[in-house]
Amino acid sequence: PNRPPYKGRFAPSPSGLLHQGSLIAALASYIHAHWHGGEWLVRMEDVDQSRCTAAYGEAQLTVLRELGFEFDANVMWQSQRHDAYQAAFDMLSNHRHTYPCTCTRRDIADSRTRMDARNAQTPAYAGTCRKGINTHAPIRSWRFRVHDEPLIWQDENGIMHVDNLEHSVGDFALKRASLPQGAPQHTPEDGDWTYQLAVVVDDAAQGVTHIVRGEDLLDSTARQIALQRALNIPPPHYNHIPLLLNPDGDKLSKRDQAPALNALHGLEALQHAWCFLGGQPIEADYICDFWQSVFNWAPK
Ligand code: GLU
Ligand code: ZN
Repeated sequence: PNRPPYKGRFAPSPSGLLHQGSLIAALASYIHAHWHGGEWLVRMEDVDQSRCTAAYGEAQLTVLRELGFEFDANVMWQSQRHDAYQAAFDMLSNHRHTYPCTCTRRDIADSRTRMDARNAQTPAYAGTCRKGINTHAPIRSWRFRVHDEPLIWQDENGIMHVDNLEHSVGDFALKRASLPQGAPQHTPEDGDWTYQLAVVVDDAAQGVTHIVRGEDLLDSTARQIALQRALNIPPPHYNHIPLLLNPDGDKLSKRDQAPALNALHGLEALQHAWCFLGGQPIEADYICDFWQSVFNWAPK
């Protein structure tokens, strides 16, 4: 069969400025796309409107351009994609893949019967509302029904992953009600789409064939593959790259006040990201020399 042309992407959430950890993910996906003669796009994952702003998104795009990343001006913003998410949600609902859930965080903690073996703080949702809800209780989320079976997938680096979603996360949210507590009954029109649904719908809509992203998203991959199967979307290839950690060994995040990337130190930042990814040090006086060397260096 004809394979679709390579398309890669970098999909930051504009909930702050980009930092060195973000640059590593951007660079990894960018060079992977280039070495495959592919296209690379940037998507703004601002689906969580309580944390993301357009100003952060614009600032992130500006710094990427200043560092020499080339991408199309038509950046997709998830905050504009309601209709596409609704259409996917309707399709899933028509095939009985979804149901409304009235559980509070407290209910979920109380009913936890199974634990994610790797991460005991995250209980799997026990499926309390699968069989129906008390129609007087406000709906708090709409969930995707998972199956009690191993979902097997392989990263492009060859590592196999096995995840039984029923045991690891349970039925997961596609949409969360956003109305204040005590508000009248929610309908599926009110609420915030979740990252899991949005990322699957958008990667498919944009024709993304290769996803290169940080290892912190390994745990999300099985959920995304389950959604792709239910939506009849061909799965992309996945590559997960190691994370830059802070001195305590945790993922570098905006909360650590990781210094924001800026174009003044752009060359050093790129050189660091390149070496972090396993590249040999690149001598360069200007950002354009750095890119020249990176594009000339191709993996064997
Ligand atoms: N928006 C996500 C993040 O900033 C990344 C999504 C993805 O690469 O799949 O962590
Ligand atoms: Zn529930």
